[in-house]
Amino acid sequence: MKRRKFIQNASLSGLGVAAVGSILSCKDDVKISEEEKALIPVEGKNTIPVVIATWNVANATGKAWEVLASGGSSLDAIEQGCMIEEANAEGQSVGLGGLPDRDGNVTLDACIMDKNGNYGAVVYLQNIKHPISVARKVMEDTPHVILAGKGAEQFARSAGFKPENLLTEASKKAWEEWKKTSQYKPIINIENHDTIGMLAIDKNGDIAGGCTTSGLAYKLAGRVGDSPIIGSGLFIDNEVGGATATGLGEEVLKTVGSFLIVELMRQGKSPQEACKEAIGRIISKKTNFEDFQVGYIAVNKKGETGAYSIHEGFYTTTNNDGENKSSAPDFYNKN
Ligand code: ASP
Repeated sequence: MKRRKFIQNASLSGLGVAAVGSILSCKDDVKISEEEKALIPVEGKNTIPVVIATWNVANATGKAWEVLASGGSSLDAIEQGCMIEEANAEGQSVGLGGLPDRDGNVTLDACIMDKNGNYGAVVYLQNIKHPISVARKVMEDTPHVILAGKGAEQFARSAGFKPENLLTEASKKAWEEWKKTSQYKPIINIENHDTIGMLAIDKNGDIAGGCTTSGLAYKLAGRVGDSPIIGSGLFIDNEVGGATATGLGEEVLKTVGSFLIVELMRQGKSPQEACKEAIGRIISKKTNFEDFQVGYIAVNKKGETGAYSIHEGFYTTTNNDGENKSSAPDFYNKN
């Protein structure tokens, strides 16, 4: 199985979220096996190095693992792992082939954090396939932390990134199809989600993380989600751990989810408990949680991992021994 549509046709009349959506980039129906329903390993189950990512992204975690296993840094593992998905034209939520905004423009958001708490991000970047690498360059080569839109593209071009058309035929077709029936206004509960958030610990025990996305499909022009924003879509503290998010970015932003999870781990919560509490913060304020999805993953300094989402249908991939393990984490809405 590959990454899947997070929210499948949750109806406006409140029928709720279909638990398991069809894969956005694949046509087959998805069934969750009993094995998959097992929670991902928590509390001491992982050896270091380790990488964990949102969704079923074995190619990406596999690449990150290769870097980690050969003694590479967690930062390199994150960049190279995320690049795999960004270059995958079939994935319609990240990089090349990402679904466009309402006007048909593919606009990308990404960020990266290293073991020293350094952070770099790009928002509303167009025409550049690897926003994660541009984000890293922002972090390493500029005195700034976020570059947006035209400025970000200009910076990327001057750093040698090749501009290209990111709107594939398949994504263009999907957008044209969407235009036929959809109202030209935001309808949060039928948007599609599939951000890649990735956390890694290298052989030295140092933590890094990254997050890369084309954001909500058919979003309003100019919309930026949680994924490139420090503390929301991603947060790393090398003394404590890291967390990253996927789902409806607006809700993650309002609760500063990833920072919250890291701070909860600092206070002694396990990654699993911390993810659960961060989802609880959203639920406690949102009576309409049936209409949207958020999922978190986290890792602590010991390599223990956790993941939790509002609804069923969230997946993670971990690799700490060369094998990519896909799991379906626990979730809140059991009704
Ligand atoms: N969090 C992303 C955003 O709101 C969407 C996603 O997870 O796919 O832009």
